[in-house]
Amino acid sequence: MIDYLKEVISGTWSLFVGLGITIRYFFQPVVTVQYPYQTLPMAPRFRGHIELVKDEETGETRCIVCGMCQKACPSHCITVNGEKREGVQGKVLTEYTLDFTRCSLCGLCVESCTPKAITFSKDYNLAGLSKEAYIFDLKAELSSLPAQTKLMPFGCKNRLEAKN
Ligand code: SF4
Ligand code: SF4
Repeated sequence: MIDYLKEVISGTWSLFVGLGITIRYFFQPVVTVQYPYQTLPMAPRFRGHIELVKDEETGETRCIVCGMCQKACPSHCITVNGEKREGVQGKVLTEYTLDFTRCSLCGLCVESCTPKAITFSKDYNLAGLSKEAYIFDLKAELSSLPAQTKLMPFGCKNRLEAKN
């Protein structure tokens, strides 16, 4: 009988302890986010896929089409092309494509870029249904044109929207 009473008291006590913890957390600010509809900013050193950097003064790419990133990439995932235009010094970037299916995020391309025209994005919201969805037209993304790939097919934000 005494053992039974002890068990009842102990069970009741643990019930109130649990309820106390629940009530305490109920009045504290919410710390969870409703992923994927809400996201947190990534850490400064996070490496997402590479992206082109805009020149702050001109709003254009800083890329001078030297091709060093393409040469430095051990996985051959970068394609850079440019052309000479009348009245423009140097080459004008016409294509910058990244095949992210092969990228190991080694960073050699970023290190080899003297004008600091590429960097790692903070984009981690990547999900797609085909390999082609991971071939990114980085020049188009820089121009804020609609992403050619809609990577979050399940009602979540696409890659461009997720950055905002
Ligand atoms: S190394 Fe930099 S400047 Fe040269 S092509 Fe690559 S991104 Fe452009
Ligand atoms: S991070 Fe490495 S593997 Fe990826 S594109 Fe740059 S050089 Fe190539």
